[in-house]
Amino acid sequence: MASLPDPITRLISSLGQLPGIGPRSAERLALFLVQSESGQVKQLAESLLEARERIGFCEICGSLTESQPCGLCSDSERETHTLCVVETAVDVINVDKSGAFKGLFHVLGGKISPLNGVEPEDLRIAELESRLKGVEEIILALGTDVEGEATSNYLALRLKDNGVTVSRIAHGLPAGSGLEYADDLTLVHALEGRREVQ
Ligand SMILES: [Zn+2]
Repeated sequence: MASLPDPITRLISSLGQLPGIGPRSAERLALFLVQSESGQVKQLAESLLEARERIGFCEICGSLTESQPCGLCSDSERETHTLCVVETAVDVINVDKSGAFKGLFHVLGGKISPLNGVEPEDLRIAELESRLKGVEEIILALGTDVEGEATSNYLALRLKDNGVTVSRIAHGLPAGSGLEYADDLTLVHALEGRREVQ
């Protein structure tokens, strides 16, 4: 890449930081962009900035939103007595899209991982506890990897004295993975087959 002009090299390195974009794809995209119509590239740049500036996290559930509270939290049609706890804001989108869940969501913002320096207090657990009024069931829909399991166990223990039923989605999910790899049908089955944590 020594022969490429600096701006292209910088663009390649920026694109290469995006998830799923390896060095070759980054190079291909960069070379495509610098040869594209400048109006088209400007529009892309503007939509990137606009999306980044207008989208934030819902103060209540932690999902991605343009307004506070988000569309899910302010939707009066949703069942307020069940809360589905997920790791990431993207999980909310996947579970909601599956249509299998009509309640409200709560994003933890990760999972407990002492090796990576993530302790319970780094997650939105206190925020979850502050939402328990009127909630009858909490469905833990976390990944099936070691850290997801540990986080589910921790939450089940911590939440059990609040008078709510804590259940976990069934493990039709691929072992060792998160919700992002589950298709709609798998999610529907995982939610329907949830079991109470004893
Ligand atoms: Zn929300």
